[in-house]
Amino acid sequence: MFTLDDDDKVIVDAARDFSDKRIGPKAQEWDETHHFPKDVLREAAGMGMGAIYVSEEVGGSGMRRLDGVRIFEQLARGCPSVAAYLSIHNMCVWMVDEFGTDEQRRQWIPELASLEKFASYCLTEPGAGSDAAALRTKAVRDGDHYVLSGTKQFISGGGQSDVYLVMARTGEAGPKGISAFLVPAESDGLSFGPDERKMGWNAQPTAQVIMEGVRVPAANLIGGADTGGEGLGFTIAMRGLNGGRINIAACSLGGAQEAYSRAVAHVRDREAFGGALIDEPTIRFTLAEMATELEASRLLLWRAAAALDAKEPDHVELCAMAKLFVTDRCFDIADRSLQLFGGYGYLSEYGIEKIVRDLRVHRILEGTNEIMRVVVGRAVAARGLGA
Ligand SMILES: Cc1cc2nc3c(=O)[nH]c(=O)nc-3n(C[C@H](O)[C@H](O)[C@H](O)COP(=O)(O)OP(=O)(O)OC[C@H]3O[C@@H](n4cnc5c(N)ncnc54)[C@H](O)[C@@H]3O)c2cc1C
Repeated sequence: MFTLDDDDKVIVDAARDFSDKRIGPKAQEWDETHHFPKDVLREAAGMGMGAIYVSEEVGGSGMRRLDGVRIFEQLARGCPSVAAYLSIHNMCVWMVDEFGTDEQRRQWIPELASLEKFASYCLTEPGAGSDAAALRTKAVRDGDHYVLSGTKQFISGGGQSDVYLVMARTGEAGPKGISAFLVPAESDGLSFGPDERKMGWNAQPTAQVIMEGVRVPAANLIGGADTGGEGLGFTIAMRGLNGGRINIAACSLGGAQEAYSRAVAHVRDREAFGGALIDEPTIRFTLAEMATELEASRLLLWRAAAALDAKEPDHVELCAMAKLFVTDRCFDIADRSLQLFGGYGYLSEYGIEKIVRDLRVHRILEGTNEIMRVVVGRAVAARGLGA
């Protein structure tokens, strides 16, 4: 796990090459123009990155979570925002593969894997963020349909995606009364709020998803309406997030690695007080700390991904630990890279301030880093995790 074998290298090199050629050179422009590069994402899907850890028999790439985090790290070197959208799409496809009926898997996954269709994950609501089990969007059975009403907040891909994976209440209060639905974008009664103005993540849209009496076939309930799918939605949403969290962490790692590499090149070239900045001992100390934290982040991330692949008993907490540690440390690494650039770091031309802006939200979404502490802390108290 600690070193890449030849097969691993092929995967990482392909993602790095794609990122260098197709994402990195345009990232600044997409950020400035708020362009969501669907064509480039489809090209990535053509290379197997639309459904990385999804079964091959339905069109996925059949790779491991470990491959996934390595791929997202490389894509995020080009643009964390683009890589992060793809990570959310991958999370949705995996949820259909893992919990969908055979019919649902065969119906939905091929078009999602090829990114003919883009997917969005819809859990958060205006009144239910960290406490997601308090969600109020309703789905009421009406013959062979469900009728959905409610509003989802901050939805990545909102307004541009083709399929919305919506968690809605079909039963009692709390997590057990929630089910997961596939809602096509063209459904009557489905509308979207304006594209939110944001600090970063400008290369992908974020919008409210508004459902007013949206009728979807009962066959769109993940797990099947009459085969146990009702009430499974919260489990599906949380299980999806284990992988989502390490993928977002991988996007932080890629952004931070890129910022760090550029900072090293900058302090090597930049002269002050009669010598290159890299020869200044305090600058070397800063770089040494950053390099150490990058390596520690990568190790924890790979460890969590391997635990998820192996379904180890502590995989939920390891994914939460990786999300907490990597997104916090890597934001700090990006910020210190900006500092090492001096005033130039603050100019958009050098691309560092964009990385800082993009990475900030990774500490908030897919469960805030406070909620990651809640998840890990709960396991420490309940079963002495790590003790
Ligand atoms: C750009 C962007 C994209 C997003 N994309 C998606 C998406 O695609 N799909 C989706 O469903 N959601 C998405 N989200 C929503 C995101 O997951 C939520 O914003 C996040 O879960 C926090 O919810 P909240 O904003 O309601 O904050 P709140 O839950 O109101 O939390 C406010 C603060 O209180 C803290 N807090 C809350 N409870 C506790 C506690 N028990 N202990 C300690 N501290 C606590 C939080 O950590 C936070 O700091 C996105 C958000 C953003 C900004």
